[in-house]
Amino acid sequence: MAAAAVRAGRDVGEISLIAVTKTFGPEAVREAWAAGQQVFGENYIQEARDKIAAVGPGPIWHFIGHLQTNKAKYAVKLFDMIQTLDTPSLAQELDKRAGTAGRSLDVLIEVNIALEATKAGVAATQVPRLIEAVMACPHLNLQGLMTMPPFFDDPEEARPYFAALRRMRDEFIRSGAADSRHLQHLSMGMSDDYQVAIEEGATIIRVGTAIFGQRSPAS
Ligand SMILES: *Cc1c(COP(=O)(O)O)cnc(C)c1O
Repeated sequence: MAAAAVRAGRDVGEISLIAVTKTFGPEAVREAWAAGQQVFGENYIQEARDKIAAVGPGPIWHFIGHLQTNKAKYAVKLFDMIQTLDTPSLAQELDKRAGTAGRSLDVLIEVNIALEATKAGVAATQVPRLIEAVMACPHLNLQGLMTMPPFFDDPEEARPYFAALRRMRDEFIRSGAADSRHLQHLSMGMSDDYQVAIEEGATIIRVGTAIFGQRSPAS
């Protein structure tokens, strides 16, 4: 991370590492926590519920999987940030549940940057409408954008997609769609391509296998 930041003339202190613990047990979280890691990412509500209860208080949890509206109430109980907001109806449901819980919830809008049919996230053309919907939710605190580009063997091929998300963010700030405080974060980059993502402006990277090793195939 530090080397990539230096290459881009950036301060590594402005980049957060999310340790992605899906499929790994509570002991992996505890070990990383003991080593100083503070923020963890999970993809599935049920798995996260058991793991977070087992680990106990301390770690900060970000939801990075696809969130169904009917799971919003659990997500609000478990997570400090939802990185995968992709519809106005999900925003409204999260807002309602956060209000009931008497808290405010940090969110990122997930952008389907390459318009892949197999991926979640909102199309670029729909982002301004979703920003507007989120800004109208008193209990949601928009913090930026998240994306997952297509998978490539060569991480260099992901670079244009990371650059596109950064340009999109800059353009929204320029056009006044949201102020820079609400678009401060770009969550992009995983084990194979986080260095390229940092060079292109990532402020949050989400890394699983490079920390915890290979995930065993889903059973
Ligand atoms: C699993 C996952 C990651 C981590 O991927 P690795 O390749 O293991 O680093 C990051 N982001 C999302 C959205 C994921 O689902």
